[in-house]
Amino acid sequence: MSRGRTALIFGIGGQDGAWLADLLVRRGYAVHGTSRDREASSFANLRRLGVIDRVRLHSVALGDFRSVAQALKEVRPDEIYNLAGQSSVGLSFEQPVETLDSIVHGTVNILEAIRFLKLDTRFYNASSSECFGNTAQGRPAAEDHPFHPRSPYGVGKAAAYWAVANYRESYGLFACSGILFNHESPLRPARYVTQKIVRGAADIAAGQADRLRLGELSVARDWGWAPEYVDAMRRMLGHDRPEDFVIATGALHTLEEFVRLAFEGFGLDWREHVEIDPALKRPADITHSVGDPGKAKRLLGWQAETTMPGVVAKLVEAERTRRRSGAPLEAPLPVPA
Ligand code: NDP
Repeated sequence: MSRGRTALIFGIGGQDGAWLADLLVRRGYAVHGTSRDREASSFANLRRLGVIDRVRLHSVALGDFRSVAQALKEVRPDEIYNLAGQSSVGLSFEQPVETLDSIVHGTVNILEAIRFLKLDTRFYNASSSECFGNTAQGRPAAEDHPFHPRSPYGVGKAAAYWAVANYRESYGLFACSGILFNHESPLRPARYVTQKIVRGAADIAAGQADRLRLGELSVARDWGWAPEYVDAMRRMLGHDRPEDFVIATGALHTLEEFVRLAFEGFGLDWREHVEIDPALKRPADITHSVGDPGKAKRLLGWQAETTMPGVVAKLVEAERTRRRSGAPLEAPLPVPA
């Protein structure tokens, strides 16, 4: 069904971009992808998945309408996935303007370019559970949960979400937002707490470190497995109507549980090695965040296979395998997808 279709992925070098490129190539798409500077980027994630030679890469500055429009005009994609932009919640407190600009301005430029060029294309935008802020106690957030973002990143994602809805309603674009809860894989950089924990525990088990400093451990999240989540993106664009979907596992776990399982995976007791550093806490944090993926199951036939304990087990296994083989971080992945 998808053979012969052309996809353009903004931010193809990121975690989700690489997994999505891999999925779409396997499904017979012609895949194009963007980076801010394709000459400077190593595209390490695409190399790790062995897909670098099967995609066409373009340099695009998302904040520059001409640059975005040029890419769309050249590729004329059937499907566009916007996965680009500053994606770290922590960094967004230090770089609020860059974060908002890359998320909001970038999304509106793509929407405007689709409209300007009168393209008959389907558009997926990467929204985030961070739009919701804290989810109501005892009630996982469905699509109608109110937005109350608690970071500049969340504010940007909320604005971009409404821009997508507005272009859909005003101009009839096939445009939708995936409100994705946290999803992980070995392609996540070490700045994200999940990789920091797994690599930190591995270092301690190998005798290369003794302590790991972390912020608040009582926060609770809904963690899933990234390769499964990119399949939900594809399904959203294959649906007969443009609609927004929450993509989540529906299970809530504390960061402390994540830490405990990761350390146990390396035969360690986390309480002997983890130090809480108040300096690592954020100006405002989300204490609990869990999603209700019921609509995605009903309308897209999608549901998460892997919940948090499985995510930790896969991350630990991938890190263990990498270290056993002595491979550097950017080496090709023997990843269980
Ligand atoms: P990554 O950070 O791995 O990838 C994002 C890509 O965007 C990067 O590879 C980079 O490409 C580009 N980028 C980074 N900073 C900027 C910037 N300031 N301006 C323009 N482009 C930039 O993110 P993920 O793959 O994990 O996530 C994909 C999308 O999904 C993001 O929008 C993220 O916010 C969102 N999301 C992710 C979740 C998760 O748990 N992973 C949860 C919910 C939403 P290059 O350097 O090549 O230009």
